[in-house]
Amino acid sequence: MARPCVLLKYGELMLKGRNRGRFEDHLREALQHAMDGASAPVRISQRPGVVVLSGAPLDELVERAHRVIGVNVVQPAFRAGHSVDDTVATVSQALQERFGSPEQSGARRFAVRARRRDKTFPMGSDRLAAHVGSKVVEEWGWPVDLTNPEVEITIEVDHREVFVSLEKQRGQGGLPVGASGRALVLLSGGYDSPVAAYRAMRRGLRCDFVHFTGAPLTGPSSTYKAYALVRELDRFQGDSRLHVIPIGNAQRALATAGAGDLQIIAQRRLMVHTADALARDLGAQALVVGDSLGQVSSQTLANMATVEQAASLPLLRPLVAWDKDEIIAEARRIGTAEISKLPDEDCCSLLSPPRVATRTTPTQLEGVERRMELDELVPKLLADVQVHVPGAA
Ligand code: ATP
Ligand code: MG
Repeated sequence: MARPCVLLKYGELMLKGRNRGRFEDHLREALQHAMDGASAPVRISQRPGVVVLSGAPLDELVERAHRVIGVNVVQPAFRAGHSVDDTVATVSQALQERFGSPEQSGARRFAVRARRRDKTFPMGSDRLAAHVGSKVVEEWGWPVDLTNPEVEITIEVDHREVFVSLEKQRGQGGLPVGASGRALVLLSGGYDSPVAAYRAMRRGLRCDFVHFTGAPLTGPSSTYKAYALVRELDRFQGDSRLHVIPIGNAQRALATAGAGDLQIIAQRRLMVHTADALARDLGAQALVVGDSLGQVSSQTLANMATVEQAASLPLLRPLVAWDKDEIIAEARRIGTAEISKLPDEDCCSLLSPPRVATRTTPTQLEGVERRMELDELVPKLLADVQVHVPGAA
């Protein structure tokens, strides 16, 4: 009996030389994280162009493999011995497990695709495909259809074994977390920033998180949400850290300094300024926010430019051109929507003016910031940071 396993494929297009080695290192780390805690120890075997998972029940391997960023194809498979006869027997076993018998299955249009990673195998790919195909016709009586098959039998000849599979599922895709560097995500309790974080991870950024609370003017509810969101996002990368910084007093100082209708933008700049300093301490190379152009009055183009100017690192906005319904659909898909929809006391609504200025300039904001001595404030805020590791629990 051939044993079940799961084959994983990843995008190879841009992978040459050193990049490829780094990519594979990050992918291996992500796979190990995703397989941690499986019901049985998982074997992860990395070969040129394919990773083979085995050890735990197939359903579990498949479900866990679907979490891994950087994996394009998840392919449940059987592992056959390294011979033509064993391959034929394994195809037969795979078809029986899926379709029962020829009477139960009826006629299915099928194709066999064969591919050799081991060029010393005694039979060429085309001949192997034709040979297996003729056995399937004999045993099942199915018609061959190479252009639009209902059942696609894939045979991959490796160096010590042959893999047979009937199905290819789409994986998360993207680049393995870490392959593009490190970023600090400004995480609120809403729908947008967790999705922005996920999309940044999908482009290979390992993410740290910072959440600003209105404490001591507001309670801990927004921190609970941020904690729960990071725990959910941690499934995609592992070892995620959440930094929580209370800015209630600073918000009040901005109001006292006469921020008026600039209050929201002034708060946003304060967050970006503080996050920028924290990111440098953490060795991150970029900031990530959940802004979407024009979604709310604080996210006009002019306001985005004013906020961005408070950062020295690149300020990335993965959702800049996304509609709210697209963002919410993605939040549901990745599992953060249920948390984001819970109510909380958001620090942004605190001291929020009746009208938000839509056309601010950096010069206006710098005026307010001078009055409240921002440069002295940021180190004080950073001294109060609390660090959590939500994925560890
Ligand atoms: P979200 O759905 O992410 O809360 P939003 O539509 O509510 O976004 P804003 O409140 O204008 O938009 O915030 C814009 C971005 O600023 C957020 O996506 C997030 O990256 C950052 N941000 C806002 N509030 C906080 C906060 N309290 N802590 C950390 N980052 C924040
Ligand atoms: Mg928000």
